[in-house]
Amino acid sequence: MSQDQPRYRRLMLKISGEVFCPPGGFGLHRRPLDRIAGEIGEVVQLGVQVAVVVGGGNFLRGKHTAEQLGLARATADYMGMLATVLNALALQEALERQGCPARVQSALSIARVGEPFDRRRCLRHLEKGRVVILAAGTGNPHVTTDSCASIRGLELSADVLLKGTKVDGVFDDDPATNPNAKLYENATYREVINGRLRVMDIGATEMCEQYGLPVIVFNIFKPGTLRRIVLGEPLGTRMGVS
Ligand code: UDP
Repeated sequence: MSQDQPRYRRLMLKISGEVFCPPGGFGLHRRPLDRIAGEIGEVVQLGVQVAVVVGGGNFLRGKHTAEQLGLARATADYMGMLATVLNALALQEALERQGCPARVQSALSIARVGEPFDRRRCLRHLEKGRVVILAAGTGNPHVTTDSCASIRGLELSADVLLKGTKVDGVFDDDPATNPNAKLYENATYREVINGRLRVMDIGATEMCEQYGLPVIVFNIFKPGTLRRIVLGEPLGTRMGVS
């Protein structure tokens, strides 16, 4: 395979909200936004199609907010979905600032700020080289954006689900506190589903296993890692990658 020949044609990239702010922080910060937009722009330049699902954990997560504020879980989950819209809008502009065309498509109707999610229209944007940022998760409570990434990844026929995090992949211990924590190069869907490894929601992982969507967990903050993975380097932790 030549140096710049992408291994994947279409990516589903899941980015947790926490990557948009400093550790333990809140909200959106310019530097991580620009860095992530830059990493995405690099793979778009290779001719790879990129759909992005953004989380909202840098603002709130439904489970915690429901408990904290005494809200119905569904209400707090809708709030979480709206939080993802904030991230999506900021990422859209960060991408466009770098000359990378982008569109927000939302699973909740919010027509003035983004198109409604429409599979065929989304595919058309991707084919034209636009990054599509999928906001508001699935539009349904009681799940998270991981489930959205697996559902949309499958329905958009993505070749792989890439989960961008702040660490190099899945470890046997917390690498932030244990410098000897060991990185798993490969993991099985079952190890995640059975709770041995915490990478992705069980429902999302089951769906990837059932329909054969490979998953790679990687460090989106290490410059060039996303591009290197797209070019076929075995970085991060891989599930179901042949
Ligand atoms: N959420 C939801 N349905 C979805 C996606 C998200 O109810 O399809 C809510 C849920 O409360 C979740 C919050 O939005 O906790 C933020 O998403 P997530 O926790 O996945 O964000 P991340 O941890 O990836 O930043």
